[in-house]
Amino acid sequence: MTDLTQFGVKDIRDGVRDGSFTAREVAESFNAVVADAAALNAFIVTTPDHAIAAADKVDAARAAGETLGAMAGVPIGMKDLFATHGVQTTAASHILEGFIPRYESTVSQKLWDAGAGMLGKLNLDQFAMGSSNETSHFGNVASPWRKSGSNQPMSPGGSSGGSSSAVAARIAPAATGTDTGGSIRQPAAFTGICGIKPTYGRCSRWGIVAFASSLDQAGSMARSVEDCAIMLGAMSGFDPKDSTSLQMDVPDWEGALNADLRGKKVGIPREYRMEGTDQAILDSWEQGKAWLRDAGAEIVDVSLPHTKYALPAYYIVAPAEASSNLARYDGVRYGLRDLPDGSGLQDMYASTRAAGFGDEVKRRILIGTYVLSAGFYDAYYTQAQKVRALVARDFERAFQECDVILAPTTPTASFPLGENVDDPLAMYLNDVFAVPASLAGLPAMSVPATINAGLPLGLQLVGRPFDEQGVLNAGLAIQQRAGFKAVPEKWW
Ligand code: GLN
Repeated sequence: MTDLTQFGVKDIRDGVRDGSFTAREVAESFNAVVADAAALNAFIVTTPDHAIAAADKVDAARAAGETLGAMAGVPIGMKDLFATHGVQTTAASHILEGFIPRYESTVSQKLWDAGAGMLGKLNLDQFAMGSSNETSHFGNVASPWRKSGSNQPMSPGGSSGGSSSAVAARIAPAATGTDTGGSIRQPAAFTGICGIKPTYGRCSRWGIVAFASSLDQAGSMARSVEDCAIMLGAMSGFDPKDSTSLQMDVPDWEGALNADLRGKKVGIPREYRMEGTDQAILDSWEQGKAWLRDAGAEIVDVSLPHTKYALPAYYIVAPAEASSNLARYDGVRYGLRDLPDGSGLQDMYASTRAAGFGDEVKRRILIGTYVLSAGFYDAYYTQAQKVRALVARDFERAFQECDVILAPTTPTASFPLGENVDDPLAMYLNDVFAVPASLAGLPAMSVPATINAGLPLGLQLVGRPFDEQGVLNAGLAIQQRAGFKAVPEKWW
């Protein structure tokens, strides 16, 4: 029989619809490979029963002649930042260990309504803070990829590293991710898969553990542009429970996919030619231009002059919002409570938070409270908000001259686990090309371009607000020309 785990979202959905196989067979196949992949540490908990129950529902609906949803029969991985009813939700932290939500996030509910099932909750950097998946309380995730001639364990990227590792290793056909400053795109680039973050507000944030609310967006991670389009369509839509949710119809992104870019202009931001970027990345960027030209697009130079201020501004805005959002973990309402004998309320707050948060999370809370403190607010936070506005204006101006922007996703390929753990600034630099689009709330995607020294490299597309279609179409044009078919060799 065909190995069903080799199929992606579209193939599974279509195969289930036309009766080539059952949803239950698909769920069973993926449950088995998930159980066999513990060495990747991609999942914090597995939920084989959820996947089977969803599959049986789809098979029954098909037998009854009902119309099947967009994700019918597709078992997915759920980043453990989405609250899932009755299933532990931790944000990869100790402070939320044992927290079992009594509600379902809007995005996960939409996926279940579309016929998807859940293989398990995917590991991530703690509270989605990190770029390597090494800040998780549950141990790092390993990338399924290895550098040529080396057995060193590599980073799957972060924070959606469980998602990227699982999809690249073929133990999940697709996974949810969240992107605050690159956490969908950078892990996708590191592992040779596609990942899209939509325009801010497309996906409801309700029921997603908050990191930096003005930046957080959910998105889809899968092996092809088509699969990302299908899944993002199922995840998106207005939600009255999120005050920043976009009140707009969700277009049929899958139906309107079109890799013919004649008449389109692709902007190349000159400020993204940064020192410290690998030559292989620069070469793949050149190759990307040639592919898009071949698809009929005109390549134009654009300028995003405030690019170099984007990362420092992000590392003020994001920690500021995080310090406020994470104040709710006080030992009273969720998860961990550390109440030493004879201690009072203040001691409980202090010891719960000291024991419950990891070092990187504490670093962000310290930075955040500092930049929001009375004496420094104007010097840091207000300035950063001004920079954010300038970064957004740069994009507005650039999009007067082009329809979509092409850039690298990251300055380097994946790195060995352990390499950057003691150097937060080196770690933060991973997102130098990803953060500007986040600050501006724009749709952005990473698509695999090539393999260099055994490791995948990704190309990034950034679009106008609400123009996910333009991003997906340019992504498809690259996908068709890159012909990226490499699969990691199984070692786990
Ligand atoms: N790596 C970035 C950070 O640590 C982005 C994280 C994210 O997008 N969630 O903040």
